[in-house]
Amino acid sequence: MATKTAQKGTINVQSENIFPIIKKFLYSDQEIFLRELVSNAVDASQKLKALSSLGEYKGELGDLLVEVLIDKKKKTITIRDNGIGMTEEEVDKYINQIAFSGAEEFVQKYKDKTDGATIIGHFGLGFYSSFMVADRVDIITQSHKEKTQAVKWSCDGSPEFTLEPTKKEGRGTDIILNISDDAKDFLEDYKITELLNKYCKFLPIKIKFGTKEETIKDEKDKEKKLTVDNIINNPTPAWTKKPSDLKDEDYKSFYRELYPMTFEDPLFHIHLNVDYPFNLTGVLYFPKIKQQVEVQKNKIQLYCNQVFVTDSVEGIVPEFLTLLHGVIDSPDIPLNVSRSYLQSDGNVKKISGHIMKKVADKLEELFKKDRKDFEAKWDDIKIFMEYGMVSEEKFYDRAKKFTLLKNTENEYFSLEEYQAKVKDIQENKDKKVVYLYTNNAEEQHAYIEKAKAKGYDVLVLDTALTGHFIGHLEQKLENVTFARVDSDSIEKLIDKGEEIKSKLTDKDKESLKPVIEEVVPKEKFNVIFENLSKDETPFTVVKPEFSRRMQDMSAVGGNMFGGAMPEIHNLVVNTNHPLVSKILKEKDEKAKKSLTKQATDLALLSQNMLKGKDLTEFVSRSLKSL
Ligand code: ADP
Repeated sequence: MATKTAQKGTINVQSENIFPIIKKFLYSDQEIFLRELVSNAVDASQKLKALSSLGEYKGELGDLLVEVLIDKKKKTITIRDNGIGMTEEEVDKYINQIAFSGAEEFVQKYKDKTDGATIIGHFGLGFYSSFMVADRVDIITQSHKEKTQAVKWSCDGSPEFTLEPTKKEGRGTDIILNISDDAKDFLEDYKITELLNKYCKFLPIKIKFGTKEETIKDEKDKEKKLTVDNIINNPTPAWTKKPSDLKDEDYKSFYRELYPMTFEDPLFHIHLNVDYPFNLTGVLYFPKIKQQVEVQKNKIQLYCNQVFVTDSVEGIVPEFLTLLHGVIDSPDIPLNVSRSYLQSDGNVKKISGHIMKKVADKLEELFKKDRKDFEAKWDDIKIFMEYGMVSEEKFYDRAKKFTLLKNTENEYFSLEEYQAKVKDIQENKDKKVVYLYTNNAEEQHAYIEKAKAKGYDVLVLDTALTGHFIGHLEQKLENVTFARVDSDSIEKLIDKGEEIKSKLTDKDKESLKPVIEEVVPKEKFNVIFENLSKDETPFTVVKPEFSRRMQDMSAVGGNMFGGAMPEIHNLVVNTNHPLVSKILKEKDEKAKKSLTKQATDLALLSQNMLKGKDLTEFVSRSLKSL
């Protein structure tokens, strides 16, 4: 029922004129017009494909293609498709009525929300987002239906439009944007390339932007230059395929496609594929997570039916999962709402719970199926594990079965295995099992050796989250307490061997204490006497576990003391060491002092605590005695 006459009309909208509003408040997100129009063109092509497969469209499908063209002279951008097209009635219905009411609803909803950035992607504005960048928009369209008239719709941003018959070759739609002066940046090729790469890289229909030169070899092996379409997208990205059709290498090459600037391969991947009770597909990757957690965050890209929405999935998945990389595609995530609303949305909660479960499943599978490989990857995922276990109760409940503890011998244990290993060996006076650990095996070498000599095992816990992690484990595993290997706790452990007696009497100790306090400042060191074997060092510097934890906490934030925590160490005197007896027996006061000084300096030196003037004097003194 094609009209031959032109018609003029007024678009029936409630608000006077929505264009100024669209232009103004969406200004910061102008660029999404291209995503919306290219998505519409892709939809039009997909619809035709569907009609064809149902037998409702009998014509040739041909090569379905969406094209973006720039005409710098005319200052236009055209989005062209050879999809379903529209008849005059359809333009009237879908553009004048539906699209407009959609746009108006959108504007009414967000008019008062000044913070546009909190709304994900402004989905739902559709066709009318073109007025953010155009003074006038023309639609030239030819329906796929036989014997229909091509029409041209034109609107200059007021509610008035014109609709008239026109000529058009072939089926499909051209959306022609007459770019306004304040948006003329969009007429630059590089800008459009950038936007197409950002939003359209994985749309399901080929997107062409200009041409490019390609070198090929002819039959005689001669190089030939060929001008070919510049297709900017990959219409069938990995996440849209079946896992059984993909090899490990395919996942890796998709990773490189997603992150062209990353050179390292991911450790492993998880292919997500759910269709009930919500739709979700995607591929998540475990990157090698180094200490700089922040750098790794926010690399997951969120898509909606292969249209890019955002690369910040905060609020959609639990915080620790933002350390993963990859793609999530779901039409069930409400995208035109604020992030704070998202967190309370039922679907989003289910999706996030599902992803967490899948991640736990994958880790458990690796742990069970190939423990050696899991151990080999451990150092790269441990911070992720600690983050998840500390921050998400549900993840902790899963992960406690397969999280690993590594000791200084590079042996790995599950929590259960470790509990079995150290039980009965290490018990302190409160009847708690003590897990000794080091966060720097180089620096704490002497302490590790000492602990090992006593038959204790030492764990390596050295991530930025270690403090939180062990605090969490202490709460969960009620009978366990952690102590750093250089802390005083080791001395409190019950020695299973025979009890060692002291060679010094209480009177001896009383007379020795002031001598030591004279050479090491009292404000910084507590002098403590311990009955150790004569083969151990005469003096040792340790830090009380309590004091160190307080200090770690004040370093992280929340300093309760309004200043730096005072650093207090224990200076442990071995009551059975011959040197200690020698000092005690020395009659000459000067010799006594210098002997004490030399021995305590050595203790400090082995802890890298002898600095400045003290160190210089120590070196020259030592040289003289050679
Ligand atoms: P939405 O895409 O969310 O439905 P739009 O405002 O973008 O809303 O478009 C309204 C309608 O106009 C679409 O649903 C579609 O029927 C029609 N339309 C838009 N662009 C095209 C196109 N390139 N080809 C065919 N129909 C289109």
